[in-house]
Amino acid sequence: MQPLDIHDSPTLPVKKRGRDLLRDPSLNKGTGFADSERDALGLRGLVPPEVVSIDDQVQRALENYQHQTNDLDRYIFLETLHDRNETLYYRILLENIRELTPIIYTPVVGQACQQFGHIYRRARGMYFNVSSQANFQEMVNNWNQDEIDILVVTDGSRILGLGDLGTNGMGIPIGKLSLYVAGAGINPNRTLPVVLDVGTNNTKLRDDILYLGERIPRLTGTEYDKIVADFITAVHKRWPKALIQFEDFSNNHAFALLERYRKQILCFNDDIQGTGAVTLAGILGALRITGGVLAQQRVVIFGAGSAARGIADQIVNGMMVSGNLSLEAARNQIWLIDSKGLVTQDRLKQLAPHKQAFARSGASLPDLLSVIDAVHPSILIGVSGQKGTFTKTILQTMQQHVPRPIVFALSNPTSKSECTAEQAYTWTNGAAIFASGSPFSPVTYKGQVFVPGQCNNMYIFPGVGLGAILSGTTQVSDQMFYAAAGALAGEVTEEMLAVGQLYPDLSYIRDISTEVAAAVCEVAFADGSATIARPDDLMNFIHKNMYQPEYVPYQAI
Ligand code: NAD
Repeated sequence: MQPLDIHDSPTLPVKKRGRDLLRDPSLNKGTGFADSERDALGLRGLVPPEVVSIDDQVQRALENYQHQTNDLDRYIFLETLHDRNETLYYRILLENIRELTPIIYTPVVGQACQQFGHIYRRARGMYFNVSSQANFQEMVNNWNQDEIDILVVTDGSRILGLGDLGTNGMGIPIGKLSLYVAGAGINPNRTLPVVLDVGTNNTKLRDDILYLGERIPRLTGTEYDKIVADFITAVHKRWPKALIQFEDFSNNHAFALLERYRKQILCFNDDIQGTGAVTLAGILGALRITGGVLAQQRVVIFGAGSAARGIADQIVNGMMVSGNLSLEAARNQIWLIDSKGLVTQDRLKQLAPHKQAFARSGASLPDLLSVIDAVHPSILIGVSGQKGTFTKTILQTMQQHVPRPIVFALSNPTSKSECTAEQAYTWTNGAAIFASGSPFSPVTYKGQVFVPGQCNNMYIFPGVGLGAILSGTTQVSDQMFYAAAGALAGEVTEEMLAVGQLYPDLSYIRDISTEVAAAVCEVAFADGSATIARPDDLMNFIHKNMYQPEYVPYQAI
C-alpha cells in the first residue's frame, strides 16, 4: 500500500507559488502561512501581515458561520470554505461534527441539491454525462490525481427522499466524502465525488434555465447498463484499487448494480449495506438489554425498499454467523411489509426482485396491525417513510407478547418518523428500546431519563471505507459489515445501555471509525482478500494513516 503523503514527512514539498497557491483549496492556508513560507512561496503582500493560528482561523470562520440566517446559507458558507481552504474546513467539521453534519449532509444537503443549479459556485468532482460517453476513457485523465482511494457516485435518481434530481445530486457525493474525511480521516486529496448524468425525468428541472445537467429523459434498459459499464471500466482502469461507493440510486438499479459489480470490483452501496450494518449494531446493543439471542428474534420490517432489504440481509447474515441458522431458517425470522401488506409468495409476480427472497409462504396480511397480531415480533423496524404509522395500538399490541419491544423508527426526516421517541416510551410505559433515523432529544418519563439512539449510517461507512482502503482488500464482503456492526455495538457502554442509548456519541466518531476499520481489516486479513501483510500493531497503523486537519509546513521546490 502507498503510504499517505500527509504525515510521512515533516514538511510538504510544494510547487505552486503566490496566487496559484492561495487558489488551491487543498494547499491554501490563507492567513495561516508562516513568515518563512510567505518568503519561500512568493506570498509576501498577498495576505494580511498577521500570521494567524488555525485555532484563530476556526474562531473567525465560526463567527461568520453564526451570522448566516438560514440553513441553506450555512451550507453555502461551509462549501465556500471547503472550496477555499480544505484544512480549515475539515478542522471545523471535525471539531463540530454533531452540529455540522446535518448541514453538510442530510437533511440540509437535500435543499442544496434541489437548488444546485442556482447556488452553484465552483466545480468539484467529476461529471460523466450521456453526451460525453464516448470520451469517458480519456476524461478520467482530466482528473490530475493519480492516486484515488474512494469515489462516491450517484446517478441522481433518488436523492434522499426527494426523488429524481438529475445532475443536482452532486451535493450528495460531495457531502458524503466530507463525512468520510472528517469521520475516518480518509485523505481528502484521494477522494472523488462523481455524478453519472444519464438524464432526468424531472421535467421541472429540465425546464429550469439554470439546470446544469443533460436535458433529456433518463436512459433505461441496455443503454443505462452500458453507460454504467463504460463509467466503471474507465474509472477502474485509471484507479484500479479505488473503492466505488454507490449512493442514492433508485431501487430498480441499486440492487442489480451491487450484485453485478460487488464481485468484480471493490464497491458497496451504503443505502443498502451500510444501513443494514448500523441497524444490526443497534439491535445487538438492544439485545444486551433484553438478554435475547439474535437468531431467536422475530423481526418485522415495515417498508420494503433499499434500507429494508439491507437491514434484512445483515440480520440474516448475523443470525447465520452467530446462531448457525441456515439461510432459509434465518430469512424465515423476517417479515417484510410494503404498501400492499405482508410480502408473500402469492404476490411473487408483482414483487420487485429485491423483495422476492423474503416473500413468505402463506396468505398475505393486509396491514401492520394484522402482522403484529399474527407474528408477535420482538423487533419492529420502520423504513417506510410513512409518518405516525407506529400507533399506540401497534406498540401496545406488540408489548402484549414481548416485555421489552425493540422499536426502530428509522424514516427521515423527523417529520416522517413512524413514531417519536416520546410516543415509544410513553405508550409502552417505558418498556420500549428505541432508536430513530433522525435525532430525538432525551425523554423523561415517570422520573426516568431515556436517551434515544440515532441509527446514523455515519457510524459505519467511514470506518468501512477506511478499513477497505488500508487493508487493500479486493472486496467488501457481508462479513466485513457484520464485523463493523459488532465493532460499533462494542462502543456502547453499560452506562449508555442503562438509559436505553444504543449508539455512542457522534463526537467520538474518529475513535469509532478506527474500531470499525480495524474490524474490517481483520476480516480482510483472515479471509485473504487483503493485499498487504497484517501490521503488528494494527491500531497504530490505522491511526498513522488517518488524515488530520492540521497545517503541515511547506517547502518550496
Ligand atoms: P425506499 O424508497 O427504497 O423504500 C421505501 C419503502 O417503503 C418502499 O418499499 C415502499 O413500498 C414502502 N412503503 C411506502 N409506503 C408504505 C406503506 N404505507 N406501508 C408500508 N410500506 C410502505 O427508501 P429507503 O431507502 O429504503 O428508505 C426508507 C426510509 O428509511 C427513508 O425514510 C429513509 O430516510 C430511512 N432510512 C434510514 C436510515 C437510517 O436510519 N440509518 C438509513 C436508510 C434509510
